[in-house]
Amino acid sequence: VTPYTPGEQPQRRDIIKLNTNENPYPPAPGVLALLKNMDGNLFRKYPDPDATVLVSAIAEFYGVDKNQIFCGVGSDDVLGMSFLTFFNGSKPVLFPDITYSFYDVWAGLFGIPFETPALDSGFHIRKEDYFRENGGIVIANPNAPTGVAMPLSDIREIAEKNRESVIIIDEAYVDFGGETALPLVSEFKNLLVVRTFSKSRSMAGMRIGFAIGDENLISALKRVKYSYNSYTLNMPSILLGAESVKDRKYFEETVGKIVKTRERVKHELREMGFVFGDSMTNFLFVKKPGTDAGKLFRALKDAGIYVRYFDKPVLRDYLRITIGTDEEMNRLLDFFRHAFSGGV
Ligand SMILES: *Cc1c(COP(=O)(O)O)cnc(C)c1O
Repeated sequence: VTPYTPGEQPQRRDIIKLNTNENPYPPAPGVLALLKNMDGNLFRKYPDPDATVLVSAIAEFYGVDKNQIFCGVGSDDVLGMSFLTFFNGSKPVLFPDITYSFYDVWAGLFGIPFETPALDSGFHIRKEDYFRENGGIVIANPNAPTGVAMPLSDIREIAEKNRESVIIIDEAYVDFGGETALPLVSEFKNLLVVRTFSKSRSMAGMRIGFAIGDENLISALKRVKYSYNSYTLNMPSILLGAESVKDRKYFEETVGKIVKTRERVKHELREMGFVFGDSMTNFLFVKKPGTDAGKLFRALKDAGIYVRYFDKPVLRDYLRITIGTDEEMNRLLDFFRHAFSGGV
């Protein structure tokens, strides 16, 4: 198999880290307080294999039943488990040619046939490409690394035309502006929405992800999980994750700040001649015509600013830049101003 390449996690602390779409703000104050007072003696025992406290908090937040939720060690765990559980026929699973680069890795690992319809020239997913026989469908919405969102009406149409296979909607970034497919879950028993605490909830290091879907899908996921590793989430993640979900106000405030910074940075980058799709996420996927993106990536790195660069056809003209704090983004913008006035 060809493994996934994660973004770099530099050990130096003075780096401006805009390469893995982490949240620049701390987790909710209640999470930090609970962590400080956590009784380490509890680590003696195995965690709750059902992660009941976390599942209940998520169920309440989204107004769904507890048996409609499956939790895992980051959404990568939930997605990987979903591939293993739902994609095992001979028909190809469909996902876009440009999308989260873990999908083809799991398909390869589990021996799942797949096909990757091309995005259009504006990086939009073409719904018609998913109106045909398949062994499953995976759509990141908003998509990564493009940041472009698909309207809910298109997801609905795809669901209406695919009643016989499982459709996974990876909503890692939806809190930053996309339309969630959660309203479709009760109507389409084959549609699974996957979410993460890594981006909008500032908890990438805790590794928490979850899926919401019909209880039959969830019970299938649980059967596979309990055939593989019953204790996935650790005890601190279960408790701290639940605490995070309780603070809706802080969550909305920090997401709001990131969206505001994103819109400002979009404006400034456009003024500098960058072009990009209308990102609905906490990152921008940008290109500056006439500029070598690889060279720019290395120059940024030398200056202590890490962004993500994919040295692959189509993608190699672009940089993926996470939205950090206003101060971090100002440092990035200053770097660009300097570079384009002859500094690089
Ligand atoms: C970040 C990301 C994930 C993985 O998130 P974790 O919960 O940290 O495992 C999954 N899908 C997409 C599209 C992502 O960008």
